[in-house]
Amino acid sequence: MLENVRCALCGADDTRPVTEIDGLHIVRCQLCGLVYVNPRYAEERLQELYTELYYDHDGIRNGLEFFGYDDYLSDEENIKLSFAKRLRTIERLSHKGTLLDVGCATGFFLDLARAHGWEVLGTEVSAFSASYARERLALDVRLGTLSQLNLDAQSFDAVTMWDVIEHVAHPLAELHEVQRILRPNGLLSIITPDAGSWVARLLGPRWEEFRRVREHIYFFSKRTLAEMLGKAGFDVLRVERADKIFYLGPAIQRLKYYTWDGVFTSFAASLVYRLGLDKLRVNVNPLTKMTVYARKRA
Ligand SMILES: [Zn+2]
Repeated sequence: MLENVRCALCGADDTRPVTEIDGLHIVRCQLCGLVYVNPRYAEERLQELYTELYYDHDGIRNGLEFFGYDDYLSDEENIKLSFAKRLRTIERLSHKGTLLDVGCATGFFLDLARAHGWEVLGTEVSAFSASYARERLALDVRLGTLSQLNLDAQSFDAVTMWDVIEHVAHPLAELHEVQRILRPNGLLSIITPDAGSWVARLLGPRWEEFRRVREHIYFFSKRTLAEMLGKAGFDVLRVERADKIFYLGPAIQRLKYYTWDGVFTSFAASLVYRLGLDKLRVNVNPLTKMTVYARKRA
C-alpha cells in the first residue's frame, strides 16, 4: 500500500516526474527542487527491508534486486579505512567527546571512533545489525529511529549520519532531533548521494542511487540539503565529495551497472581475477556522493 507525501523541505504538494523505477515514481518539487519518491511505502514497511539479507545478498551482483550490500561484514577492513579518513576530518572540526552514529549498521564506525578515544553510542532500525554491534563489538546501540529514542538534550559533541538521511521517512524532523541532542556548536556529519552532481544528471534512471528506489526515498543536492540543514538550525561548514575504499575485483564488477553492454566489464573483471589483483585496494570516488559537515548554531 503506497501513501502520498508532501515535500519534506517546503511542505508543497506540487511535483513533476523525474523518472520511474520498478513501478515507483521519483519526482521533483516544483517549488524547492527536492527530489523524492512519491507515493511511497509506509515507514514500517520501509524498515522491513533491513534484515540480515540487506547486508549480505547477491542482488548487486546479479542485478535482480537492487538494494543493500553484497557482503558488508567481510568488507569491514575497507569500510573502516574509508571511515578513518572521515574521522580525521571530524577531529579537526570538533573536540573529542561524545559521539552518536545515527543508523550505525554493524557498528564499524563506532568501533573505530571508540578506539580513537570517543565515548560512543549508536542508533539503528535494523535488529540484525544492532545485535551484531552489541554482541560482536560490545557497543551500546539502541534499536529504533532517533526520534523514537528520546535521547537527552545537548548530550553529544558530534553526530554522524553515514548513508542514512536518504532512507529516513521524515528527514527534517530527524535533523531537528539531531539539533536538540547536540551541544551548542556541535558537529553534524552527513554522507548522502548528490542528485545535483553531473554524473547523476548524466546517468538519469541508470544512476545506482535512483535504482535503489526500494531503500532511497530522498535525493538531495548540495543546495536542498543545505536548505534543510538551515531550517533545522545548522550552518554548513564544508562539502566534499565522498570516496570509498573497495577491493578492485568487486569495484570492476560494479561497473557493469554503468555501461550499456557488459562485454568490456566482464572481460576486465575476469582479467583482474585471473591476475590475482581482485584483492588490491583501490580508492573509488564515484563523484555522486557528498560529505557535508555542519555546525549547530549556538
Ligand atoms: Zn519543496
